[in-house]
Amino acid sequence: MNQPTPPYIPRIRDPATPIVVAIDGPAAAGKSSTARWVAERLGFYHIDSGALYRAATAAVLRACGAQQWNEPDVLTAAQRVSARDERRSFVLLVDGVELEQEMRGGAVTQNVSRVAQMRGVRDWVNAQVRSLATGRSVVVDGRDIGTVVFPDAHLKIFLIADPWERARRRLIQRLGRSPADQQIAEETERLVQRDARDSTQTVQAKDAVLIDTTYLTQEEQVERIVALVKVLKGGHGRTTPDKA
Ligand code: C5P
Repeated sequence: MNQPTPPYIPRIRDPATPIVVAIDGPAAAGKSSTARWVAERLGFYHIDSGALYRAATAAVLRACGAQQWNEPDVLTAAQRVSARDERRSFVLLVDGVELEQEMRGGAVTQNVSRVAQMRGVRDWVNAQVRSLATGRSVVVDGRDIGTVVFPDAHLKIFLIADPWERARRRLIQRLGRSPADQQIAEETERLVQRDARDSTQTVQAKDAVLIDTTYLTQEEQVERIVALVKVLKGGHGRTTPDKA
C-alpha cells in the first residue's frame, strides 16, 4: 500500500532562533492541553488562540447581548480583552478581570463561532497572537495557526480524533467521571455542529504532520510532538524537501 510521504521538517541551525510550533485541529481534539504540556516540556510559551476568541466573545456578550450585532460594536468589545503573562502562558482578562469560567461556559461556546467569523475580529486576534509570540519560542494552538497566523511556523501539527472519542474526553474533563453513552451521543452532536460552524477556518496546512489521537494517550501525543521538535533541532528524519 502507498504510504503518504511525511512532511519535510527543516532543521534550525542557529540555536538562538525562536521556534514556532503550530497545533491546529477541530474542537476537543486535545489541542490546548497537548500544547500546554508540550510547551512545559520544552520551556516554550503556550498561546491558546481559541481562548482569545472566547474572551472576546465573553466581552461581546457582556457589552452587546446575544442578539443582533454589528461588526464595529463587536470589535470595540473584543478590544477590552488583554493578556497577562503568567508562567510562560497568558491569562486573559476582560476589563482587567479574569473570566475563565464564563469563557468556558455554554453561552460563550454557543456564540464563539459567530464572533470568530468576523474578519475584523480574526485580524485583531491574529495580531495579538503574533505580538505575544514575538521574540520567544512558542507553541500556539487553534484552527488556522499553520495556514494564516504563522504560515512559516517551524513545525505544524494537525490533531484529529474520532468525534465520539472527542466528546467522551470532553465530558470526562467536565464531569470528572465516565459519561453514559447517551450523554456522549448528545455531546458528539454538539461537537459535530461546532465543527460545521468552524469548518471554514479549520484548515490543515499542506506541510502539517497529521496526528490521529483517537487511540493515543495524552502522554503519547506529547511525546510525538516533542520528538518532532527534536528533529527540528537537528535530530534524524527526512533531510530533503519535496520538489515544488
Ligand atoms: O479552541 P476552542 O474550542 O476553545 O476555540 C473556541 C472557538 O474559537 C472555536 O470554536 C472557533 O470558532 C474559534 N477559533 C477560531 N480560530 C482559531 C481558534 C479558535 O476560529 N485559531
